[in-house]
Amino acid sequence: MTLQLKSLPKLLPLLQQPHRNLNMRRPRLPLLPQLLRVFKSCHRHRNHSRNILQLPLEILLLITEKLALHDMFLLSHTCRAFRHVTVQDWRAAVRRLSFRDRIDFWAGLAYTLPGFWVCSKCCKLHPIHTSDFPMCLRSSRGQWFPCAVDYSQRYGGDYFQVQHHHIQLALKLSRRGNMHQKYLAGLMSTCIYPTHYLKRFKQSYEAEPRIINGQFLLRETWNLSSVTSTCSPLFSEGSVFRLRVCSHLQLFYSNLERSRNLKRLILSARAQVANLTQRELMAISREATLVEDEIELALESPGWWRYNSCMRCHTDFGVMITPGKRIATIQAWHNFGVEGSPMDATWRAHADDAHYTTFECFFRNAHLHHRHGSVRELYYESTPRAT
Ligand SMILES: [Zn+2]
Ligand SMILES: [Zn+2]
Repeated sequence: MTLQLKSLPKLLPLLQQPHRNLNMRRPRLPLLPQLLRVFKSCHRHRNHSRNILQLPLEILLLITEKLALHDMFLLSHTCRAFRHVTVQDWRAAVRRLSFRDRIDFWAGLAYTLPGFWVCSKCCKLHPIHTSDFPMCLRSSRGQWFPCAVDYSQRYGGDYFQVQHHHIQLALKLSRRGNMHQKYLAGLMSTCIYPTHYLKRFKQSYEAEPRIINGQFLLRETWNLSSVTSTCSPLFSEGSVFRLRVCSHLQLFYSNLERSRNLKRLILSARAQVANLTQRELMAISREATLVEDEIELALESPGWWRYNSCMRCHTDFGVMITPGKRIATIQAWHNFGVEGSPMDATWRAHADDAHYTTFECFFRNAHLHHRHGSVRELYYESTPRAT
């Protein structure tokens, strides 16, 4: 039993235009006698590869009732019998869904359709564009996707910005392994931002994606070093270095105390609006300054890695300062999870929403548990296997 996928892309534009008067499907639900006729016909042409159709009709209906709408839609395209079991006005059914469920519906279809991805901005499927990489300029992407998907959700900083559909397409093309493999290689390529100089310091950045066990992982590496032995120490007032470990953990100033103070100030003002107790504010402040704390501890024990994790997304990070204290390496390992919808908690915890400020995430995102160090361990797992 196979999906008749060729017909699906033709049907999608019709589904995505809710205001057109379309005779989408046959009448709502078939009458029982009609169904029985179809099933008797299937029984007559007994085919052991279709054992599910040997089930009594009542049982089959009970099973299909439990299916998500996108699964039912796909099932309806497998054979005539299932088309009769699942038949309905698909356009109306999709329109009745909440926004979130509609996104999930399209995400469910996108999982099966290799040439499409779901857009959370316009709630539609967009066709794949094989020039669309995380490093592309917004203006280029704007030409391909007029809904301006750029301005909704993405993960990344100044050097590298990955969007949900890049991750989903990479996972899907990796799973299928038989199409757009050149594009997949581009999506999975390491992004190296050239070394640049900030006063008497030099800084480099690298983002290296991997797919392990059907999950999309990303390692980011920042290197900061002083050019001469006479310049100011790293992470002092004299150095200019900003760092973004994840949407929740950022270093605003090279001077650790200054960065901490700014965060406490903003969080304290925000806590008043949110009516937080002093204890809750302290807990959030402690969480928000984890990077500053780990850098400080790394400075106290040069040559040793210091590791910690974000409590609000699946990110581990580590800091190491060389014994001479002239080179700092900071790494972050992110797990963006498995194939899914842009509404999934794992993605949403990572993604920056253009509508919110950096500090809103502490009040907006709930804690997302992961075992400390598990993302880092998974990233280095040596034998990626397809799921
Ligand atoms: Zn869109
Ligand atoms: Zn985080």
